[in-house]
Amino acid sequence: MSPPLGLYLHIPFCRQRCDFCSFYLEIHREGRAESFVRSLVHEIGLAAQQQVAVGRPIQSVYLGGGTPTVLAVAQLIAILSEIRSQFSLTQDCEVTVEGHPSTISEQDLAQLRQAGVTRLSFGAESMEDGDLVRIGRPGAVSETVTAMAKARSAGFTNINLDLMYGLPGQSLNSWKQTLTICLALQPTHLSCYALTVEQETRLASNIRLERSPAPDEALQIEMDQSAQRILSDAGYERYEISNYARPGHACRHNLLYWTNGEYLGFGPSAQSYLDGTRFGNVADLDAYNRSLTEGLLPIEERIELSKEEQLRDAVIFGLRLIQGIPSHNLHQHALNYGHSALTAQLLAQELIEQDGERSKLSAKGRLQADTIAEKLY
Ligand code: SF4
Repeated sequence: MSPPLGLYLHIPFCRQRCDFCSFYLEIHREGRAESFVRSLVHEIGLAAQQQVAVGRPIQSVYLGGGTPTVLAVAQLIAILSEIRSQFSLTQDCEVTVEGHPSTISEQDLAQLRQAGVTRLSFGAESMEDGDLVRIGRPGAVSETVTAMAKARSAGFTNINLDLMYGLPGQSLNSWKQTLTICLALQPTHLSCYALTVEQETRLASNIRLERSPAPDEALQIEMDQSAQRILSDAGYERYEISNYARPGHACRHNLLYWTNGEYLGFGPSAQSYLDGTRFGNVADLDAYNRSLTEGLLPIEERIELSKEEQLRDAVIFGLRLIQGIPSHNLHQHALNYGHSALTAQLLAQELIEQDGERSKLSAKGRLQADTIAEKLY
């Protein structure tokens, strides 16, 4: 039987762009959203008609963005209903909707629950209002608290909070305080991302103009270590570099990415991986709409990966998981790419450790994960 597949839907709208954000999106306008939803529904049907992944059970559906909850709830339900009519979702399919805490009412949440959404992910970012102001993030901490209460009243039990650390002006104590406040809200899952400065963002320009400090790497490392301590003491398991979950609540959709699983992406800029081929949609809403009006899938780029490249990606993504990867995969990749000396060095420096048949990043290695990934590429 074919292995299960995940579906990702990119909703390219937000009410405002946060200073650090470089995702493909535009400011929400009703007319643009309406034409996008029409195109998205068309794309889902077209992909299914073209028998892409026909008969594959769908293990997870993830509506991300952007801010999916800036769409009207009726639009989100129309998208989900098209997914259900074109694909076969497994009985325990994880269906996640990302939302900004200020963009959803209890009634809308109840309707999403009825439409089969099983998991919510709120972008809290920080539980200190000053931090939100300094990263140009709309909304207030009180809205995250209210959104959690509304979600629970609507019947949701599986809820993630996204957090960022190393924000301008954020101290170690204030980060710990953010974690403590979040824990009191009892999410099942917490994602903790170090702030990174992307080119062409307002944050990058603020740093250049010395209006904002650059992230302090040493402080980010301390913050990462304190998150690990505080969250594991509270019963959360770190299962990926940036992700912690209560037992049984790891995000099934995101696990697909780290285990080299297959997924289809819909919406402008969405990426797919199927049958050893990576392909991506055009990152331009007008071009996306045009392509679908002409009855064509809006795929811009296709890269067929060799077996060696597939293994390389499995190694690089898999090392992000705390459980690591089979050691023979690491060694085979080293042979394929002439990385044997490099791998031996990473082991000798205790950045990668081998535990029986598995290889994983050590605590020290996790702090340099991106650099190690670049070297192993
Ligand atoms: S809400 Fe999320 S997707 Fe939208 S601008 Fe902010 S960080 Fe980017």
